[in-house]
Amino acid sequence: MTSYDIAVLPGDGIGVEVMNAALEILRALEPRIGRKFTLTTHPAGAQLYADTGNALPDSTLKACRDAHAILFGAMGLPHVRGKDGTEVIPQLDLRFALDLYAGVRPIKTWPGLPVPLRDPRAAQIDLVLVRESTEGLFYARGRGTIEGTGEQAHALDTMKITHQGTARVCDFSLRLAEQRKAAGKRGHVTNVDKANVFTSMAYWRQIFEQRAQAFPGITTENAYVDAMALNLIMKPWQYDVLVTENMFGDILSDLIAALVGGMGMAPSADIGDHHAVFQPAHGTAPDIAGRGIANPSAMLLSAAMMLEWLADRHADAALAEGALAIEKALRTSFANKEVLPFDFGGKSTTADIANAVLRHL
Ligand code: ATP
Repeated sequence: MTSYDIAVLPGDGIGVEVMNAALEILRALEPRIGRKFTLTTHPAGAQLYADTGNALPDSTLKACRDAHAILFGAMGLPHVRGKDGTEVIPQLDLRFALDLYAGVRPIKTWPGLPVPLRDPRAAQIDLVLVRESTEGLFYARGRGTIEGTGEQAHALDTMKITHQGTARVCDFSLRLAEQRKAAGKRGHVTNVDKANVFTSMAYWRQIFEQRAQAFPGITTENAYVDAMALNLIMKPWQYDVLVTENMFGDILSDLIAALVGGMGMAPSADIGDHHAVFQPAHGTAPDIAGRGIANPSAMLLSAAMMLEWLADRHADAALAEGALAIEKALRTSFANKEVLPFDFGGKSTTADIANAVLRHL
């Protein structure tokens, strides 16, 4: 039987809880799709840092490099800080180490779950935000400086936009729009920048426009990030694929998660040319950790994204069938009102939601 090695990094807080649900679903899928998943758990995270002084051991990084794909829960704890006072965030180290340049954040409306927008068109929300994940303003991480002292001091962080880094994430987004168009969606990419103010962003826009010329079947437009924040609330149903710089993407991906009810419904993938990490967009949620009430949907949908990515990479249609089965099972569970997650005001536990999905598989 064809077998896939998956490096599993549950991490901290609710990361561990939602990961358990995802592993249960993947195991249940194996006989259904005739594929084997070798799911090997590796240590990493803020608690590991507190215990050992290392949040991402070399052995874990090596296992990630060797695996077919990486499934990631959530990492970080508010009280665990690095030497410079910033949070311990090994997922950022993983992104840089494995050159995972495309942060893919899809959201869509789920029948049966309440949405914050009252306009009936909110039912049609189905968009993907692609966040450049290796440079932009996050290039400054660990490189920022404070110069001078007292009231004369100033702090500097640098935004870095390279031709290669921008071109590859723009190409990724345009290709994604082509795939979505083939599946009956719009085939439209909105480039989000701040080209009216920053040289770096004007350069980014120039590269986006150059790359778009190679995709004549895809329509494109440019938007400023501030206008985008407004339009994503006013008329999110009109967007298909968005592509943006790292920091803007960081902020807008939380905003779009809110459109469909919150972080519990927001899966994500960090994709490079050779590796990919799949993780829910939410953090470790220390406020609810340990109570068994975390919504596992974002994690389950991230596992489905992993299967889709593997299906494409290994030309293995059975995996795509598995991805679809997870999404459909979750959709049916909500549409039939069998479960309502805690973050939607419901009482369903993590296990209740996993069991509903298992029933429909
Ligand atoms: P980070 O900085 O890593 O994003 P955070 O603490 O700012 O972490 P989250 O951990 O995502 O953000 O939590 C934000 C809020 O959303 C919290 O109130 C948390 O309880 C809630 N939340 C996040 N994920 C879930 C989930 N899967 N199910 C239920 N509630 C969630």
